[in-house]
Amino acid sequence: MFGQWLRAPRQLRLVFIATMLLLSGTLGWLAWRLLDQDQQLLLQRLAEQRDTAADLVVAAMEKRLTAVEQDLDHVPAADSSKRLAQAEGAIVFQFLPDVIRAWPENRLIYYPELPHQPETPPALFAASEELEFKNHDYPGAIAALREAASSNDSKVRAAALVRIARNYAKAGQPRESIETYQGLANLGAVTVGGLPAALAASLAILGQQAEPPARLDAARSLYRDLNSGNWPISFAAYQYLSGEVALALPEAERPAPARLALAEGVEWLWERWHPARDSAALSANRASVPTSTGAVLLVWRIAGGEIHGFAADTGYLEKHWLADLKPLLDSRGVRLFLTNPDGRRVVGEPPSSGSRAAVRLASVTQLPWTLQVFQTSDGGGAWQSRRALLVAGIAVLLALILTGGWFIGRTVEHELAVAKLQSDFESTVSHEFRTPLTSLCQLSELLMRGRVAGEQDRQQYYEALHGESHRLRRLVEALLNFGRLDAGKLQFHFEKLDAAVFLRQSAAEFAQGQQAHGHRIEVETHAASSLIHADRETLRCVFWNLLENAVKYSPDCDTVWVELTKKGRQVEVAVRDRGVGIPRHEQRRIFEKFVRGSAERESGIRGTGIGLAMARQIVRAHGGDVSLESEPGKGSTFRVLLPEREA
Ligand code: ADP
Repeated sequence: MFGQWLRAPRQLRLVFIATMLLLSGTLGWLAWRLLDQDQQLLLQRLAEQRDTAADLVVAAMEKRLTAVEQDLDHVPAADSSKRLAQAEGAIVFQFLPDVIRAWPENRLIYYPELPHQPETPPALFAASEELEFKNHDYPGAIAALREAASSNDSKVRAAALVRIARNYAKAGQPRESIETYQGLANLGAVTVGGLPAALAASLAILGQQAEPPARLDAARSLYRDLNSGNWPISFAAYQYLSGEVALALPEAERPAPARLALAEGVEWLWERWHPARDSAALSANRASVPTSTGAVLLVWRIAGGEIHGFAADTGYLEKHWLADLKPLLDSRGVRLFLTNPDGRRVVGEPPSSGSRAAVRLASVTQLPWTLQVFQTSDGGGAWQSRRALLVAGIAVLLALILTGGWFIGRTVEHELAVAKLQSDFESTVSHEFRTPLTSLCQLSELLMRGRVAGEQDRQQYYEALHGESHRLRRLVEALLNFGRLDAGKLQFHFEKLDAAVFLRQSAAEFAQGQQAHGHRIEVETHAASSLIHADRETLRCVFWNLLENAVKYSPDCDTVWVELTKKGRQVEVAVRDRGVGIPRHEQRRIFEKFVRGSAERESGIRGTGIGLAMARQIVRAHGGDVSLESEPGKGSTFRVLLPEREA
């Protein structure tokens, strides 16, 4: 039942299309799954890359910190201190119970605290101060101070110079006053009035300059001296002097110095150390501390009553610790972002929102930072090109399947059509055989039983027997020839023929036989002599077939016209009838084997559908061709073109 349903071409086509769609759909689904899995795999690989990079960075940082800690055990041994603080941005320091020491000294622009420096005994300057404040005798006071100004004790000298400069100023001699301050500046770190002499001199000069250009210069010079770190200065003094500078110098000209971070870092630790020790904060031994100019790394060891510490700013970290890791990070296509445990940026740029990062928390790694490693690109580019490649491959595969399917479909349909034609052909041929055979049986039985009325009837029966057996013979010959021709085994025996003579003879023979059904064949030859090279027998079959068709398909006209003309170097034989004609859509197909006109099949006109196919093949074997002109209801003309042969 199902087999029969399947055999119907329409159903078969439906099943075929459904199969193709199913196949394509399955392929598409598989492709989609493949793409999805591919993306998952890529994401997983990227995550692994981030994780390994993060672990490597953690390990490298830990190694660095451990090395620093080991070196700190040997501070203040000169080589350890030097090694640790050899580059700009780092400093080594030591907190003794009341003193802070730093290497290199000038990198610490202020100290959280400085030991109290005893002032010079006031009695030393009692005489000059009496002259200055009571008598307002400034030159006298200056003269009284001269001796102290050349003292061997630099502290006494500094105190004397400050007083001389002050008296000059009061005496209305600003130039001399400033010159004296400049002399004081040469004493550098010697403290006077709680400040290093150089800074005290710069501050005093700034105080004396009222006019803008000179005042600005004095402020710039104080700003430079203040941040040079050349003279130890306490945090309180630093703040005071910075305030003075800020009054005289525009903000743009006094950026926060890079070294400020180190000083703020050291101060942070000092506050937790002195005087009441914050042991919870100190036990960590490592910290990343926010300052006004970025974070500072602090590493320290507590040994006895001392702290040995190391501080480094972000510039130092980037240049000396993280630069080594850059090739490793680059090779994995990842970037690093360090933050303080509270989330404030230390180094690097934060990942864009939505990008995945491998995070290592400070609390877990025991590093002073929380660390994030993220991909510089999301791998989208690589994935996109892989996806494009995969999609293209699948598209090609689909196209191949569909094209293949289309070809298979067409071939199957064609084969089905041929099979149908063949089965039609078989039933037609059986029918063609049965009719003459039945006649033969009946006639021979009548003759055998002697049931024939008279001699005339007997003669007619014999003629009928002759006609039917001829028809059978022609049918068998035609089938045999067709079989040979189809198998390419038909032998042609070419000879030189006069087309006109040959045509007249063939037509005359045809007209005499029963197959003419009384039709007249009018032959007209316009070419007196036209030689062709042909196989007489097969070519005769061709003409007879055309004539037989013309007779068969002209029920209402008893004449068939045959015309021979020369067309250039070709001989044309036209067989014309005024019969039923052939619809345009069938004109091409009727030359194919087993194909019969639909009207003919339905009206019951006998035929096998192989005549025209054979005719065309035979004519082509002669180097010519057959063409057709036809109009339904008006008739048809078949033209056989054959190459002419030289005489
Ligand atoms: P058949 O045995 O059916 O005549 P042919 O191969 O000789 O087979 O012809 C194929 C079909 O061509 C015929 O079935 C018929 O439909 C059409 N045909 C051929 N010759 C003519 C004609 N002279 N007039 C109309 N139809 C024709």
